[in-house]
Amino acid sequence: MLLRRICYNKGMSITDELIHLLGSDRVLTDPAELFAYDRDGFTLAKSCPRAVVFPQTTAEVSQVLALLAAHDAPIVPRGSGTGLAGGCAAYGNGIVISTANMRRIVNIDLPNRVAQVEAGVCNTRLSEEVAALPGGEKWHYSPDPSSQRASTLGGNAATNAGGIHVLKDFVTSNHVLGVEMVLPDGSILTCGATDGGYETAGFDLPALICGSEGTLGIITQLWLRLSPKPASFRTIVAYFTDTAHACQSVSAIIAAGHLPAAMEMLDGTMLHVIEDAFSFGIAPSAQAMLLIEIDGIEDLLDKQMQQITDLCRANHAFNLETSSDSARRNQLWKMRKSTFGAIGRVSHSYCTQDACVPRSMLADVLKNIDSIGRNYGLTITNVFHAGDGNVHPIFLYDERNETEVQNALRAAHEVLRFCIDAGGTLTGEHGVGVEKIDLIPYLFDAPTLACFDRIKKVFDPAEQANPGKFIPSDKLKVSLLKPGRQVPQ
Ligand SMILES: Cc1cc2nc3c(=O)[nH]c(=O)nc-3n(C[C@H](O)[C@H](O)[C@H](O)COP(=O)(O)OP(=O)(O)OC[C@H]3O[C@@H](n4cnc5c(N)ncnc54)[C@H](O)[C@@H]3O)c2cc1C
Repeated sequence: MLLRRICYNKGMSITDELIHLLGSDRVLTDPAELFAYDRDGFTLAKSCPRAVVFPQTTAEVSQVLALLAAHDAPIVPRGSGTGLAGGCAAYGNGIVISTANMRRIVNIDLPNRVAQVEAGVCNTRLSEEVAALPGGEKWHYSPDPSSQRASTLGGNAATNAGGIHVLKDFVTSNHVLGVEMVLPDGSILTCGATDGGYETAGFDLPALICGSEGTLGIITQLWLRLSPKPASFRTIVAYFTDTAHACQSVSAIIAAGHLPAAMEMLDGTMLHVIEDAFSFGIAPSAQAMLLIEIDGIEDLLDKQMQQITDLCRANHAFNLETSSDSARRNQLWKMRKSTFGAIGRVSHSYCTQDACVPRSMLADVLKNIDSIGRNYGLTITNVFHAGDGNVHPIFLYDERNETEVQNALRAAHEVLRFCIDAGGTLTGEHGVGVEKIDLIPYLFDAPTLACFDRIKKVFDPAEQANPGKFIPSDKLKVSLLKPGRQVPQ
């Protein structure tokens, strides 16, 4: 059937064939419209696609990919485009396959605590629909990237997204039970637990697909684990006059056997930026803030909260606030979530880096980030998931100034190398994309890279799926760094 269509349309251009297949209203080819799809949230990586298509079903995705395979055309999966590693930039004249029209929640099975969804469903919508069911108010889909009001569940799986509460609840791959994915040749793979169960025999293919960043195929459906919502909370805010003491508190809290639901840190620069923007009442002497949430059984929380505040005090917290009030809790999390909006007031452009280091190295890493920023004449501020050692240095620059752009990219690479040298890794949650592909050979040895290459080719022998991202290949090399630029002294 697929072959007949491809032969029948021989001689037509690839975009005409796509229009023939999906209709002109579901294929964009006008440069003015394509412009909106040349990047994701990492705005330094830009490349205009040849076309953007909007399939509505798995069968349509399969037909589109079979057609594109016949033309050896690169395919670029896209959810909401909130990615922060350039994974959606369509290098090599790629065709963007959007899941924007695949937004059905197929089934919510509360007795088995499993939801079956299409890849384009937005993260928060799943928990909202679960909560609206009789008996559903006790359950939710727990992975909570800060982008969750916009990002898709397919994009979350493809990037193995984290979030504020992953310290206790773990990243996306732990919540993906089964996956349906269309391979670049158009065949449909269904793997993992897709029948309401949690276990499956054989290789754990859903875990392999989570974090593959669109380099193996297009995820079309997911079977996701639903988790119980925590019943009671306490929120703790601790202010410090330096970041090192805040970092020591993080290690001390974990070493004492606590597992908070979230442990977030903001540095002094960021605290001043959000205070200027929103007047939350943050003391000017604060150089670091820890926002900690614990949850669990009501009767146990006050004692745990006391132990955690004692640890913060022992590590020189100069101001502490504790709360069990849900309105105050929302206000405090609003402060945390306001950070990225506030940066727009002080910098023309910014990019958020993402690396993971052992918690005990956090203080050293922050110090080094600061000194790298000074060397390049850049302001770098930090808002991050301190509990899981997931740093997010934010580089402020002006995209209209190419020197500043290159300095930001070089400084970001230096930070990442330092994190790797400190025993960490290239990404805690945003993925590698095009942004960090240069550093993949620095992180992995040759046998591991060869293994990645062979795994990729099992799914995608022609290397059509999201080329130039995550796994280095000779077929398409992309680097954002211009050669020869010197570090300013
Ligand atoms: C303000 C802000 C806050 C953020 N906070 C967080 C956070 O707390 N935690 C976190 O992890 N991330 C965060 N991110 C990054 C981003 O939201 C996540 O990476 C998210 O998972 C991307 O989802 P998306 O639907 O937007 O995917 P996209 O950006 O569209 O795509 C991301 C990658 O996944 C691939 N992809 C998308 N859909 C599919 C599919 N169906 N099949 C195969 N591959 C696919 C794409 O090719 C690309 O490589 C944040 C981003 C912003 C802008």
